[in-house]
Amino acid sequence: MRCKRCFNQKEIYFYLGSKGYYCRKCSNFKRLLLEEELIVNDYNVNKNADYQLPFILTDNQLKISESLLENLINGNDVVLNCVCGAGKTEITLKAISYYLKKGLKVCFAISRKEVVVQLHQRFSNYFKDLKVIKLYGGNCKEVYGDLIICTCHQLYRYYKYFDLLILDEVDAFPFKNNDVLFNIALNSCKGRVVYSSATIEQDLKAKFKINTVELRLNKRPHNYNLIVPKLFWLPKFISLIIIFLILLKTKEKWLVFLSTKNKTLKFYQFFKYFIKCDYITSSSLNKELIIDKFEQNKINILFTTSILERGVTFENVNVMVFESNDDIFDVSSLTQIAGRVGRSKNYPFGKVYFFFDFINKEIIEVKNTIINRNLD
Ligand SMILES: [Zn+2]
Repeated sequence: MRCKRCFNQKEIYFYLGSKGYYCRKCSNFKRLLLEEELIVNDYNVNKNADYQLPFILTDNQLKISESLLENLINGNDVVLNCVCGAGKTEITLKAISYYLKKGLKVCFAISRKEVVVQLHQRFSNYFKDLKVIKLYGGNCKEVYGDLIICTCHQLYRYYKYFDLLILDEVDAFPFKNNDVLFNIALNSCKGRVVYSSATIEQDLKAKFKINTVELRLNKRPHNYNLIVPKLFWLPKFISLIIIFLILLKTKEKWLVFLSTKNKTLKFYQFFKYFIKCDYITSSSLNKELIIDKFEQNKINILFTTSILERGVTFENVNVMVFESNDDIFDVSSLTQIAGRVGRSKNYPFGKVYFFFDFINKEIIEVKNTIINRNLD
């Protein structure tokens, strides 16, 4: 027995229901009977896929962008390993346009709904003549369009459909350690796959097919170096005093990352008596409002869980992580957090502080990787 959708072959996951056997490993997507055929759909793509960028790509970006397309044409899948803020999305446009102009089907999939919404807006602006559609939990009435932007969890709706599938942030939740989702994603595609991220670790590379080429971009468009984290190996209470003093005196903008929702709230409840600040967690009801306030400098200190570790860009921001040795912060998330700083060409500098009471290999790896990428 083998599930057509998630490739599961373990018999214990096959259950006999009233209509026949089905795979329980992927049944939370939509129950699929073992003998049921997956439907291959078709759609006529609008080939008017010229695009307009509001800015010019740098030489480095152009080179990677051309190399990406060349590799795809040559039949290679590609790992796109670009530092945070290198402009990954724009680098993929040339390939996307090439595919669409041939009437082929393209999807850009990413983990989080908020990013799908943002990207949908961006792609709609770039490709003025196309019907760009967005899909995520709660918004999936329209499944077919010229260019599809969706969360990874929506890919089960397509079977051997895409000629080009761009999987962004493959190193992060929910892809990380989720083979079912990973296989469902691959199953949605009959052509080439682009795996994109700022940190692609060895265990993930093992999953990729053999003919996968890695393209690296170590420079941001403004050509300044990535900010190297400053490490503070201190007892917790001393870290707390230092953080308190920094935040009390600062006139700069800081994102303060905490390991749990509860700690985020507690920091806010304490600090609000001393400084103008706010906090944001996955439970915050008015997330956009808080982000807007921070963006417009109405507050300059924001306490946050890892919810703001990727996808968002603030100009002129500094970051600190309290208890950066906590299990919740892995190499990928610490790299992303550090990558929030210095993205804009108006403010290419800033501070990245990691506070911890015991150093671990993740912290060392993040620092060393950033230093090495700056040397390239
Ligand atoms: Zn399955």
